[in-house]
Amino acid sequence: MPLVVTGTVGIDTIHTPSANVEGVAGGSAAYFAAAASMLGPVRLVAAVGGDWPDEHRRVLTGFPNVCAKGLEVRPGSRTFAWGGRYFDNLNRRETLFTELGVLEEAPPPVPAEYADSRYVFLANTHPAVQRQLLAGFPNRALAVADTMDLWINVARKDLLALFEELDGVILNDEEATLLTEIPNAVSAARAIVEMGPNFVVVKKGEHGAVLVHSEGVATVPAFPAQLDRVVDPTGAGDTFAGGMMAHIAKSDRTDFETLQSALAWGTVMASHTIEAFGLDGIRAIDDGDLNTRLEEFRRAARIA
Ligand code: AMP
Repeated sequence: MPLVVTGTVGIDTIHTPSANVEGVAGGSAAYFAAAASMLGPVRLVAAVGGDWPDEHRRVLTGFPNVCAKGLEVRPGSRTFAWGGRYFDNLNRRETLFTELGVLEEAPPPVPAEYADSRYVFLANTHPAVQRQLLAGFPNRALAVADTMDLWINVARKDLLALFEELDGVILNDEEATLLTEIPNAVSAARAIVEMGPNFVVVKKGEHGAVLVHSEGVATVPAFPAQLDRVVDPTGAGDTFAGGMMAHIAKSDRTDFETLQSALAWGTVMASHTIEAFGLDGIRAIDDGDLNTRLEEFRRAARIA
């Protein structure tokens, strides 16, 4: 069933304790689309400026299942750019700069042929824009959104209005606490469910994720990666969402059990992302890699 993602396509600068890279292909929707495309077709809605590098276009359109008809290029505008720096254990990062560029302009139009999209993911961008884009998908079966500290701090009212229209929300533990002032992932997620969505997924980095749903609670551990395998965690959250939503769209089911399996697919996808800079970790996935890792993950998480 058709899956669509809206969000940012951007130019990233990343500092890790071992390397600095500038000008790599990134953005919330780019990471999501790349990951989702590993499991099935995905439609992309985003805008970039005239400065968007050709090399980035080649990388993004090189993922065979990504439909980029909804990617608008605005020659006189600047592409969204973001810089972040990771601390020693690669679990925490700080944002160094955010240059909104095209994000300060009108949202990209949703192509008419995308109006039949059934599964909708609103990757990170301003919540007022997320809400506006959501209206472009009247036939949706499930709408899920991600958010982050910047938007919680500067656009809380828009975010709360968005939550009322969503089926699901994905965010990390720090963001859940920032939003609710509750320092416990499950309790914070429950408070967010009260704000409108049917379920909330709270990501906890190397400690996995928790799903709080109107029908129950489920947890999933992270894929156990040694620190020396973690090269760049950027995009882990977006690719987690990409794996999760692509599994849901492929199953064409939204029940609790399907969401639980979807968390495992999300985890496996994120585990590949962090093994290289930018989109290279996803690009390196070969036939069979995902199934092999999912099996490994099942064995690691088995409870006798
Ligand atoms: P993640 O590591 O999953 O949180 O996602 C990182 C990606 O999100 C990077 O490629 C950034 O370009 C993009 N990003 C960072 N800040 C924002 C923001 N405020 N809104 C939308 N996308 C962002």
